[in-house]
Amino acid sequence: MTINPTHIEKLKEIAGSKGWIDNPSNMQSFLEEPRDKFKGHTDLILLPENRDQVSEIVRYCAQHKIPIVPQGGNSGLVGGGIPSSAGDEILISLRRLSHIREVNIDNQTVTVEAGCILAHIQEQAKEVDCLFPLSLAAEGSCMIGGNLSTNAGGVNVLHYGNMRNLVLGLEVVLPNGDIWHGLNGLRKNNTGYDLKQLFIGAEGTLGIITAATLKLFPYPHEKQTAFVAVKDPKAAVDFLTLARRISGNMITAFEIIPRLGLDIVIRHIPNNRDPLETSYDWYILLECTSSLGRDLLNLEQVMEHILSSAMDKGLVLDGVIAKNETESAQLWRLREHLSDAQKYEGGSIKHDISLPISAIPEFLIKSGAVVEKVIPSARPVPFGHLGDGNLHYNISQPITMDKAEFLDKWEHLNHHVHDLVKEYNGSFSAEHGIGRLKIDDMERYKSKIELDMMRKIKNSLDPDMIMNPNVILKK
Ligand SMILES: Cc1cc2nc3c(=O)[nH]c(=O)nc-3n(C[C@H](O)[C@H](O)[C@H](O)COP(=O)(O)OP(=O)(O)OC[C@H]3O[C@@H](n4cnc5c(N)ncnc54)[C@H](O)[C@@H]3O)c2cc1C
Repeated sequence: MTINPTHIEKLKEIAGSKGWIDNPSNMQSFLEEPRDKFKGHTDLILLPENRDQVSEIVRYCAQHKIPIVPQGGNSGLVGGGIPSSAGDEILISLRRLSHIREVNIDNQTVTVEAGCILAHIQEQAKEVDCLFPLSLAAEGSCMIGGNLSTNAGGVNVLHYGNMRNLVLGLEVVLPNGDIWHGLNGLRKNNTGYDLKQLFIGAEGTLGIITAATLKLFPYPHEKQTAFVAVKDPKAAVDFLTLARRISGNMITAFEIIPRLGLDIVIRHIPNNRDPLETSYDWYILLECTSSLGRDLLNLEQVMEHILSSAMDKGLVLDGVIAKNETESAQLWRLREHLSDAQKYEGGSIKHDISLPISAIPEFLIKSGAVVEKVIPSARPVPFGHLGDGNLHYNISQPITMDKAEFLDKWEHLNHHVHDLVKEYNGSFSAEHGIGRLKIDDMERYKSKIELDMMRKIKNSLDPDMIMNPNVILKK
């Protein structure tokens, strides 16, 4: 089904001469996503340049019941920003809403438009000696509207929380075109329901975020990065507890990496090497940061003390502390390339799960057995944000298996792994969201009461189901 040409012409008029694309050859980058799982189709991409244009477009779509898919940097991993192949949805890219509206140092806030690239916000914050702590590998292309809509997490959640914790106010165009002016920099605002939280993690199903007021923090000039070997995941969890206690909660990142993951990165991504001379089964990349000056706190000593205490207790077997920013970046490269590098090993079946941290060691033993039973010789590469309980439980295909045959088992394996996650009261979607990829899992793992509440919220804000209708909830 295509969109009525009269509507297309009217929408182009609202978006202005630079505000639309209707030539299929210029649409490709908007209609494909990083994992190549979804390919979309649309007759029209709109690129409004301000909030009022967004509002006018949505109002017109609401009147004519034209479904809308909002898109930011298109780095999402669950297909939420890709229109369906039916071709009946228009895509609204927020990339031209890219202004920083205000940096307020006394209030420690920055107010930004939805199309601001995350790395740009980090840079603007740094210019005033502040930190905006959301950090993830896609930060050079993802946009804050997308980060908010997926409740993005990343590597600093352990210390600063995810997007839900980093936002104070939102401006949103609602599904009828009305604008909710909810931008404020208030840290206390006890006036009934916290409406902004509805739109965070809603993946564009309840409205279009056009701007946000975000929290800033003092810039942590002091940083220590270490890469250490641990005996097993249980030792890693005990090490986390110890490190948090010793550092007075200064640990900002705590990432787990299995030996196979390290091997894969070194094998396939140039300019990477094993930081340690001996080979071990499990590694932790950890970072402590502080905004206190070196004269007030010697962070190097803190890190050394953490590692030596952990070694005394047999939790850490070996390790290296980065001597400077270059060495720190080299260590981080090992972590950041883990997902990419798996591509060179054939197919990879992904899980973005979270568990109570204390349950992770037992889960990893049991899930290994589950994977082996479902696909013998498949190779689990569980890595990620151990510090906040989020594992990217990715499974590389058996070396000799056909890639397509392996990937055909994606859903089947997901069910087995997610069933086990549920036994531990975990979540089948920790930070990437639901999108179009995990809609069936919502039905399988969310309770009827939760799904009913979600549907009631959706129906009351978007009765005609025009906002990203193929995402999160089954129609
Ligand atoms: C290499 C890589 C690493 C990643 N690492 C992490 C990580 O560590 N942690 C993590 O949490 N995520 C990670 N992600 C996924 C992450 O969620 C997204 O990269 C990012 O947050 C999405 O931002 P985006 O602008 O690209 O949004 P898009 O992909 O464009 O959109 C994502 C969703 O938000 C909706 N949306 C976008 N903008 C708006 C808006 N203004 N209003 C309403 N809805 C909107 C879309 O419709 C879609 O449903 C990673 C992705 C990649 C490619």
